[in-house]
Amino acid sequence: MDISRRSFIKWVIAGAATASPFGCAPGGEGRKTGAPSVPAARLGSEEKKVCHDVRDGLLKSLPPPSRNLDVVVVGGGTSGLAAAERCFGSDYLMLEKDDHVGGNCWTESWEGLDYCTGSAWLALENDEVKALFKRWKIDPPIIKGNDSAHFDGKWIKDFWNSDPDYPSYGQLPYSKTVQDDFRRFIRETKKLDRVKDAAKLDAMAFSDLFQGYDPHIQAYWDTFGPSNWGSATKDTSALIGLNGVHEWAPCERRTFAGGLGMITRQLYAGFPEDQKKRCVTGATVISVRREGKRVLVTFMKDGRPETVSAKAAVIAIPKYMARHVVADIPEDQAKAMKAMRYAPYLVHNLCFDKVVWNLNYDNWAVGARHFTDFIPADWVTHADGGDLNRKQVITVYAPKIEAARPDLLDDEEVLEESHATANELIEMFPGWADHLREVRTYRRGHAMPMSAPGSLSRLQPVTQRDMAPIYFSHSDNCGPVSDMYEAALGAIKATAKALQHV
Ligand SMILES: Cc1cc2nc3c(=O)[nH]c(=O)nc-3n(C[C@H](O)[C@H](O)[C@H](O)COP(=O)(O)OP(=O)(O)OC[C@H]3O[C@@H](n4cnc5c(N)ncnc54)[C@H](O)[C@@H]3O)c2cc1C
Repeated sequence: MDISRRSFIKWVIAGAATASPFGCAPGGEGRKTGAPSVPAARLGSEEKKVCHDVRDGLLKSLPPPSRNLDVVVVGGGTSGLAAAERCFGSDYLMLEKDDHVGGNCWTESWEGLDYCTGSAWLALENDEVKALFKRWKIDPPIIKGNDSAHFDGKWIKDFWNSDPDYPSYGQLPYSKTVQDDFRRFIRETKKLDRVKDAAKLDAMAFSDLFQGYDPHIQAYWDTFGPSNWGSATKDTSALIGLNGVHEWAPCERRTFAGGLGMITRQLYAGFPEDQKKRCVTGATVISVRREGKRVLVTFMKDGRPETVSAKAAVIAIPKYMARHVVADIPEDQAKAMKAMRYAPYLVHNLCFDKVVWNLNYDNWAVGARHFTDFIPADWVTHADGGDLNRKQVITVYAPKIEAARPDLLDDEEVLEESHATANELIEMFPGWADHLREVRTYRRGHAMPMSAPGSLSRLQPVTQRDMAPIYFSHSDNCGPVSDMYEAALGAIKATAKALQHV
């Protein structure tokens, strides 16, 4: 699709219908409205050049193997790190294209404050996950409170709750009929059998369930979905949307100040030095192919290709990439991988010289044009207020629709979008302008696997099929939504199979 520069602003978050009141120029200069000036954003990004060359078939040099190994782990996100940790004691290599491990769980810092560029929180829901975190010696604190939401100029603290009698619905700035519709939606949808009718509901669009209800309810989920699972209601599986409605609010959420990137940081920091040497960054895998009983893996490092031969491989990268890299994938599996959908994503971190927000952890701006929600990066340690003169980073989530992906390649376009986002927030909270010191924007082209109808029950069982001794593992094939602990558990299972070849 040919999308001209400056078109990005048009590819707004699905569900947000109103035009932005801002006309912003990039770089914080020459704003066209009375909105206060914001600093130019600093742009961060995943590494993508070699991946694009792979996609375009430009890399053909596959040298003979330079060494023999037991296992190669492709990708160094949560899945890759969890796989590497299980390979301790064997002769393995983990290959990661970026110059750091962590993938979408990646934390950066501003003036000593950690903030995340991706994954925010998790729930240690079952004994398997609790045991894993105990093994990793990682104990994230509990997030206090629910999420707030903003409707037509009013912020409502602790808004969404799966209990229809929760008082927050009575605070909506709408008539009693609308307030009652929120409650009715929860009551009625609770009657749907998410176990017995799982396959049927997974094939349906979530948007089909909003017919006959006030549109503000769908607007809320059109904000919530893109941020959490990459898609608005029309592109979300009804099963996954219903899980969000009825299961997410009551769960006990956990994180560190700085988000889940602190977990991959701590996990990797705990690797013994000799194991860290086995985790190679700046190494983009361009080919994985079976040869007899072995797997040949070729990667680019410092502009040069190298091939290693292994007894098995764990492919811990998303399927949109895996399908280009792994040779001879069976036709139906390759087709299912191609059918997987991924949302592009910008995450903006706004750095303030004092506390500007202290209402709730995650805050949903229903109807906002450039973003969905924002999180005070250190909420989990300062939920009770703390020193209000301390510095604060606000992490702003800005998922985009798939058609916006080409625009993310244009730095100026992205800077313009981050400027528009900061301005939209400042229009909402004029007091923030005087304290905003920096804006940092992180972009990813295929960040979030979308929980589209059928992705869970139709595509995932096919995309994750073993090609022994090659095993697939990534958060895009490990459950209803892309999720950190499922990614780790899936990788551990795949690695156990790989280690059987050793
Ligand atoms: C903005 C955002 C917010 C999120 N919020 C949450 C949240 O709150 N909670 C939650 O649980 N999850 C969240 N997620 C989902 C998150 O992606 C997972 O939690 C987790 O990061 C998945 O880990 P992974 O290893 O499966 O995948 P990834 O993080 O995608 O890791 C894959 C790794 O493979 C590397 N790679 C790709 N291709 C190659 C190649 N050819 N060669 C070598 N390396 C390669 C990538 O650079 C990357 O490091 C969020 C995601 C995003 C984008």
